[in-house]
Amino acid sequence: RKKIAIMTSGGDSPGMNGVVRACVRMAIHMGCDAYCVYEGYEGLVQGGNFIRKMEWHDVRGWLSEGGTLIGTARCMAFYERPGRLVAAKNMILNGIDALIICGGDGSLTGADKFRAEWPSLLDELVSAGELQAEQIEPYKHLNIVGLVGSIDNDLSGTDATIGCYSSLARICYAVDLIEATASSHSRAFVIEVMGRHCGWLALMAGVATGADFIFIPEKPRDDNWREDMCNVVEHHRKMGKRKTIVIIAEGALDRHGNKITPTMVKDLLADKDGLGLDTRITTLGHVQRGGTAVAYDRMLATLQGVEAVKAVLEATPETKTCFIAITENKIVRKPLMEAVQAAKEVAKAIEMQDFDRAMALRDTEFSE
Ligand code: ATP
Repeated sequence: RKKIAIMTSGGDSPGMNGVVRACVRMAIHMGCDAYCVYEGYEGLVQGGNFIRKMEWHDVRGWLSEGGTLIGTARCMAFYERPGRLVAAKNMILNGIDALIICGGDGSLTGADKFRAEWPSLLDELVSAGELQAEQIEPYKHLNIVGLVGSIDNDLSGTDATIGCYSSLARICYAVDLIEATASSHSRAFVIEVMGRHCGWLALMAGVATGADFIFIPEKPRDDNWREDMCNVVEHHRKMGKRKTIVIIAEGALDRHGNKITPTMVKDLLADKDGLGLDTRITTLGHVQRGGTAVAYDRMLATLQGVEAVKAVLEATPETKTCFIAITENKIVRKPLMEAVQAAKEVAKAIEMQDFDRAMALRDTEFSE
């Protein structure tokens, strides 16, 4: 019987439990044994009780649970070959040679590296006397499939990452709550949302809540952003709006690569010589990651989890490591490293203030 392990890694995102549930049940449905690796790569390195066999009923009710019930962690040991060597040994000892990883670009990079190194890791384990040659014989190839779990929607090649719509829904809900009090007191609110390199959450929240002004990393404001924002806000106020909402992504920048902070925006809106608005800052923080997944993320997690099991069973030593994407509403397999590479280059392009390149890379299409 084929043994397939599932893990969640990196930052948590709503929908990860749906992924685990779908993978466990699909694996069992396909006649395989399903395993969960607890605490991401840390669990793979630790072995023992961190790697557990899962039954159908073990994931009952998981679709409506927030976070990840099998835990996630950052694991320093897995960055280094000795850590990956121990992880490989633990996989063999548990009879696992197929791994599904749900995480961000870092987790997927680690996965690709692990797969590429697998044959040499096994050779090293045998030559060091850690395992016998017969023990590794059935596990010569490691099949890995990635699923993208992230609230940021920051991976190229897929329309949505698992969790981004839940986070967006939570932000919209929070902005609605704030709007009620803003309107009552005729106040302005500067709302900071997550997104260091990717402004998708801030942009979509701005659209979905009808914010007055937004700041995102990919479209830095030019030198007269202060004037622009004040003009827009003043115009809206003159039209009778009693509230002002400005949404700012964590990584918001100006044209020169300088950070635009919520305090800078607040001071401007509150300036007595200007608009003089009673202005407050709200940093939404970790509420954006929490809570249960919205219907879209549950659907995405389930459909992609099912596809991931199929992909890991169909993979051959010749196939490239893939991740499961959604493109124009279709669940598809795409080469993992191209997408991870593009995500890294987007971040680099933003740091270098080459914003046109960043946007072009974000839109890059990959096919299998
Ligand atoms: P998020 O988008 O939330 O940051 P992520 O998956 O990108 O998620 P990381 O902290 O970058 O989060 O990676 C998670 C784990 O994956 C790391 O702690 C490490 O164990 C492993 N990992 C990341 N990058 C590599 C790499 N280049 N080589 C080996 N392992 C890696």
